[in-house]
Amino acid sequence: MLTCDGLRMGGTIAIIGAGPGGATLARLLSGRGFRVRLFERDASLDARPQGGSLDLRPDSGQRAITAAGLDRAFAARSRDDAKAFRMIDSMGSAMPGAGQDTHEDAGPEIDRADLRAMLVEALPEGMIAWDHKVDRVSPQGDGRWRIDVAGRGPVVADLVVGADGIGSCVRAALTDVRPIHTGITMVAAYIRPELRRGSALSDFLGEGSVMFAGGKRTIFVQRCARDVILLYYSMAVSQGWPRDAGFAVDDHAAVMASVRAAYRDWSPELLDMLTQVQDGFHLWPTSVMPPDYRWESRPGLTMFGDASHVMPPFTGKGVNLALLDALDLANALSCDPARPVQQAVVGFERAMQARTATEIRACLRVGRYAYGIDLGFDLGEAA
Ligand SMILES: Cc1cc2nc3c(=O)[nH]c(=O)nc-3n(C[C@H](O)[C@H](O)[C@H](O)COP(=O)(O)OP(=O)(O)OC[C@H]3O[C@@H](n4cnc5c(N)ncnc54)[C@H](O)[C@@H]3O)c2cc1C
Repeated sequence: MLTCDGLRMGGTIAIIGAGPGGATLARLLSGRGFRVRLFERDASLDARPQGGSLDLRPDSGQRAITAAGLDRAFAARSRDDAKAFRMIDSMGSAMPGAGQDTHEDAGPEIDRADLRAMLVEALPEGMIAWDHKVDRVSPQGDGRWRIDVAGRGPVVADLVVGADGIGSCVRAALTDVRPIHTGITMVAAYIRPELRRGSALSDFLGEGSVMFAGGKRTIFVQRCARDVILLYYSMAVSQGWPRDAGFAVDDHAAVMASVRAAYRDWSPELLDMLTQVQDGFHLWPTSVMPPDYRWESRPGLTMFGDASHVMPPFTGKGVNLALLDALDLANALSCDPARPVQQAVVGFERAMQARTATEIRACLRVGRYAYGIDLGFDLGEAA
């Protein structure tokens, strides 16, 4: 039976996905003497847009950053003043009790691109195999796992960890459960560059973010690094929208017409301010895994982060949970050298699954309140 020390001394850990979760795990494990290979489908760090700004919470994301020895790098790239958060109603008035305040447990904001770059740059040279899209993982029959990389030869590892996000290929080897579309797709757009400072929206926003809300719809606006302003319209549409509606996402006029129609009962002045966007929309069909699903552990294989428990961004926990999972898994594998790897992995999975069931419920309660989402799960009551 492979022990954690045996794995560290003579085995290989393959992590699939160099997102925030996978890169954190690679940093933690390689720093503790494990041999790690990290496979990433993107050809490079900036192969595609990396999304907006995320806040790293003290009780989760920041703990992992500290354990990874990256506090100074994080302080240099994050923005503490971006914690400011306000709620405004659909007529443009401040919502009761929501002044210029911050989330109680909010942490400094960092752009996803900057977070990922910070983590990747902290890894030993050559650890990431870029442009390596993993198609599937399968048991070899000798206790190890075979990893099939698109267009390349197979690779073998003693422990495979899926950190490959919502479309995880590792998940297929652990469970048949798949993410469910919540019925809300976020349509992300960038405010025109000339309005980033000195405009009415910029004044509303300050350095932080504003949630405009009314009639089970929101428009979330956030200032990201380098003054960029990113905005998300919440659209109650099918998962296949806008294709299902007969137009493409790069048809600016058609997407904008749908957005305007969705918010037609909002203040026209407010909506004008919130639709001064550049060409180029990004779609984020929000999805969720059922809160109580579990998988049966398989020796030598596990997953975490969005691969295991993707949830909508309503509570801002996705990246924080992925980083906390990475820390917990690294700790489970390194706390007792004599412990069998499988025992460490099962303990990690159980704790992660219990935690995320609670988080998914909390997230869906916000989704029910803010967007009227009802997927039929028992959400319990808020504590
Ligand atoms: C492009 C993008 C933009 C995002 N923008 C935001 C945002 O603005 N705000 C927000 O709150 N959250 C955003 N998220 C979600 C948030 O980043 C995640 O909730 C959080 O980072 C969870 O981290 P993760 O490492 O588990 O998964 P992810 O961040 O999804 O990372 C998964 C990684 O695995 C790689 N990958 C996927 N499949 C394979 C494969 N078959 N083989 C090899 N590599 C693979 C992906 O390219 C990616 O690098 C975004 C996610 C992505 C992917």
